[in-house]
Amino acid sequence: MNDVTLPDGERVPALGMGTWNMGEDPAARAEEIATLRLGLDLGLRLIDTAEMYGEGLSESLIGEAIAGRRDEVFLVSKVYPHNASRRGVAAACERSLRRLGTDRIDLYLLHWRGSIPLEETVQGLQALQREGKIRHYGVSNLDLSDMRALWSIPGGTQVATNQLLYNLSRRGIEWDLLPWLRERHVPVMAYSPIEQARLLRHPGLVQFAREAGMTPAQVALAWLLARDGVIAIPKTGNRQRLRENVGALAHTLTPGQLAALDVLFPPPRGPRPLEML
Ligand code: NAP
Repeated sequence: MNDVTLPDGERVPALGMGTWNMGEDPAARAEEIATLRLGLDLGLRLIDTAEMYGEGLSESLIGEAIAGRRDEVFLVSKVYPHNASRRGVAAACERSLRRLGTDRIDLYLLHWRGSIPLEETVQGLQALQREGKIRHYGVSNLDLSDMRALWSIPGGTQVATNQLLYNLSRRGIEWDLLPWLRERHVPVMAYSPIEQARLLRHPGLVQFAREAGMTPAQVALAWLLARDGVIAIPKTGNRQRLRENVGALAHTLTPGQLAALDVLFPPPRGPRPLEML
């Protein structure tokens, strides 16, 4: 498994599992749990969730899936911006811990920037870290000016990731945010890495994949895995599609293939507002 080094030196897998919309359909539950367990068997140790996903249903499903296997998992969850006050983040974290059936979250993120000052959120996250309830903290959907603001406050430079929308069809962060984070050794966690499956119908990608002997999802994931300091967290609740996605690890795109993908999905030619889903 390729891995990515967090700022404090801890290594995490470069391919993890997203869980948005999981746990919401009782008919899908058994397959979703089996998929998460298979993912752990195949080395996808990093699981991403949020209190927002199904208002806790995703976290509860994960709690069931990882019961008895907690130590194998690097658990990522997120706090709503409106809960990210000093006291609010502590209460939200307790609720997430209870649903996840664990005593600690490995990486706890501010889901997006809201109206509560970043200073207060960071203080709340640091308090949780001192208590051992979270091991690392980070952010999501913060643009370059937000990151600069974060860098100017105590504890702001300790963030372990910025989780961002990043895939072949969403390359805007390559202009300035991604290089800024790289210079500071902050990994990017790429969410919606296959653009919620919409990318898979792109005719150019379909043809490229056929010629490369891969599936479109594998190309999209292999492209992200080829980038330094990027963790991809595709979501699937299906074991067959999980195996397909894990298959991306068996392919290293050549410089020629990466150049061909740059033609199909051009990098940005100037600054763009941060996109999010
Ligand atoms: P995604 O991973 O790009 O795509 C997920 C969709 O693609 C699901 O509908 C899934 O359906 C389907 N899929 C997965 N593998 C497939 C394959 N090989 N072939 C065909 N279809 C496939 O989108 P995402 O869920 O938005 O993003 C991934 C994770 O990032 C989320 O689950 C969440 O954990 C995180 N996220 C974070 C934010 C944020 O604001 N921080 C925002 C969005 C997402 P099946 O399940 O039926 O396979």
